[in-house]
Amino acid sequence: MTDVKDAPRVPAKRADKAPIPASWDYAPAPEAKDLVKIEDHYGLFIGGKFVEPISKQRYTTIDPSREEPLSEIAQAGKADVAKAVRTAREAQPRWAKLKPSERAKYLFRIARILQERAREFAVLESRNGGKPIRESRDVDLPLAAAHFFYYAGWADKLEYAFPNRKPRPVGVAGQIIPWNFPLLMLAWKIAPALAAGNTVVLKPAETTPLSALLFCDVVRQAELPPGVVNIVTGDGRTGAEIVSHPDVDKIAFTGSTEVGKAIQRALAGSGKRLTLELGGKAANIVFDDAPLDQAVEGIVNGIYFNQGHVCCAGSRLFVQESIYDTIISKLKRRMSTLRVGDPLDKNTDVGAINSKMQLDKITSLVQSGIEEGAEIYQPPCKLPERGYWFAPTVFTNVAQSYRIAQEEIFGPVLSVLTFRTPDEAVEKANNTPYGLSAGVWTEKGSRILLMASKLKAGVVWANTYNRFDPASPFGGYKESGFGREGGRHGLEPYLAFDEA
Ligand code: NAP
Ligand code: MG
Repeated sequence: MTDVKDAPRVPAKRADKAPIPASWDYAPAPEAKDLVKIEDHYGLFIGGKFVEPISKQRYTTIDPSREEPLSEIAQAGKADVAKAVRTAREAQPRWAKLKPSERAKYLFRIARILQERAREFAVLESRNGGKPIRESRDVDLPLAAAHFFYYAGWADKLEYAFPNRKPRPVGVAGQIIPWNFPLLMLAWKIAPALAAGNTVVLKPAETTPLSALLFCDVVRQAELPPGVVNIVTGDGRTGAEIVSHPDVDKIAFTGSTEVGKAIQRALAGSGKRLTLELGGKAANIVFDDAPLDQAVEGIVNGIYFNQGHVCCAGSRLFVQESIYDTIISKLKRRMSTLRVGDPLDKNTDVGAINSKMQLDKITSLVQSGIEEGAEIYQPPCKLPERGYWFAPTVFTNVAQSYRIAQEEIFGPVLSVLTFRTPDEAVEKANNTPYGLSAGVWTEKGSRILLMASKLKAGVVWANTYNRFDPASPFGGYKESGFGREGGRHGLEPYLAFDEA
């Protein structure tokens, strides 16, 4: 790979002169905060009820858009994790022996309750995580419910899903999830595990525990047998306790590649099963025959959705040289219409950055991009004074060796590179240690198939981006991890097989 800058043939300056439309003034349309009741403090959910942490430790969870405290959260220690695992172990045989169609009924019930309480959950997700209510309401909640519906459907059909292989549950699953899609990641983990007859101990991320704690109320409402779902809150230390507990049969982890590697090292030789869903640095590739306006929508959705806190975000944009100027000018114009601000406002497109730590990480990587010589563009937008914010950002004149083209930023920051031929696009797109997802924009079906077969990515979207469906498996290659979630594939890590 060359280290030469990916300079466009025509300087980007011309694109800068594209007229920027005056943005429309919208009256604020805030969703009501009081749709959801947040307790002053929470315990750990073990054996179907909230219990005080043996550790006696708590930390404060906040609203990142206002830097306001929301609640005091238990920091589970070694003894708490041990108690949760013991409870899950005790509950597992009965749960596994239940008629599969009965297990399915519980999952259906959970799905229905999530739908009924969707508005409440959406407000909570936006308050605790900073994501726009439009996304929590229209993406996170419907998809979380859909996952429970989907795996409810499989619970009594496991023998058909894996013919001649006699599937049985693995036992107790330890599940650790990140902060970018808190409830959705919980659904991805819990639904297949339960459908397959396992019980679980799940740890939400330190910064976003509230939707998992509200989910405990759904579990109670659905009258799920006690001990089948246990939720322990805390930081990375709690996660590490789950990983090292000797009586956990399987670890399912979604998070950073760095922690994923540490977990893999910790589990080596233990016989515990492991699936890892890790980071990404996806290529979104636009050919000159693509429908350009749709492609620009896809680029924007690919990187600014959920503030770019998306493992499969299209963070490296590859544009065919002949359409470079047009795409950049259309993209900048579109970016100027993005509304950044209050996550609870229904007009908001880009919400708050999830934490101070994440904001610092984004800021320092963006600084490195400027220092290494890339050209930065941010549309004029006024950021709120309190809270953690970062304006939608695009970098042009990026070389493949720059940190912004190599490292996962996990923020609203796009790096644009160029290519001339499909082979060059493939070579550059695959030039990354990650391999989670990719996007291809072209009119030609044959080219889509060719690209999909050559791109080293678990998911390849064609003429769309960030589309999720519970029936479709999701997961990575290389440093993006292994194992699949979603679809029939997503059941397999939660099953052991006595080959018939
Ligand atoms: P992270 O720091 O790796 O955290 C993920 C989870 O692991 C959190 O619950 C975290 O607790 C916990 N944890 C931290 N250290 C641990 C340890 N030593 N042992 C066990 N658990 C530990 O990742 P993050 O910063 O929260 O999330 C962002 C990353 O997740 C990005 O790299 C992103 O690409 C990846 N991600 C991947 C997918 C996917 O499906 N492939 C989906 C979403 C996100 P704390 O909250 O206390 O840190
Ligand atoms: Mg972390």
